[in-house]
Amino acid sequence: MPIQALCYVPSNSFVTMTYQHFMDIAIEEARQGDAPYGAVLVKDGTIIAQGFNTVKRSHDVTAHAEVNVIRAAIAQSPTRSLAGSTLYTTGEPCAMCTGAAIWARISRIVYGASVDQLAEVGQNQIGLSSEAIVGTSFWDVAVEGGLRASEILRLFEK
Ligand SMILES: [Zn+2]
Repeated sequence: MPIQALCYVPSNSFVTMTYQHFMDIAIEEARQGDAPYGAVLVKDGTIIAQGFNTVKRSHDVTAHAEVNVIRAAIAQSPTRSLAGSTLYTTGEPCAMCTGAAIWARISRIVYGASVDQLAEVGQNQIGLSSEAIVGTSFWDVAVEGGLRASEILRLFEK
């Protein structure tokens, strides 16, 4: 399937510009990662946390970009809830990260490359889509994917 066919980001131009802007930042974060994954958490149009994969330098297998930004944001949240926030992430969140997003009450996930696409470029993946995990949970997270996927997949070529 061509990568473009996987893109179902809204065509509304304001939404698209917003998505592009925050995904730009997530991609820049990914370039700093131990593995090239980056994430940005946004609430009310403002970045509340941004980060990248630090599994090697933290010696922590849970230090995926998404978990790192969720931890940073929750640490500053008196309610331990990130309801109303959007998680922009270069890769579709894995089962652990989607779970963390659910526990944190994140409202929307916008990802770049899908789990299947990441597996195709040799990345270890758990074969569950973020959307499927959300579908089994108590918290409704809107999930959108395919934004800048081909560009993001090129980060794995080095
Ligand atoms: Zn993850």
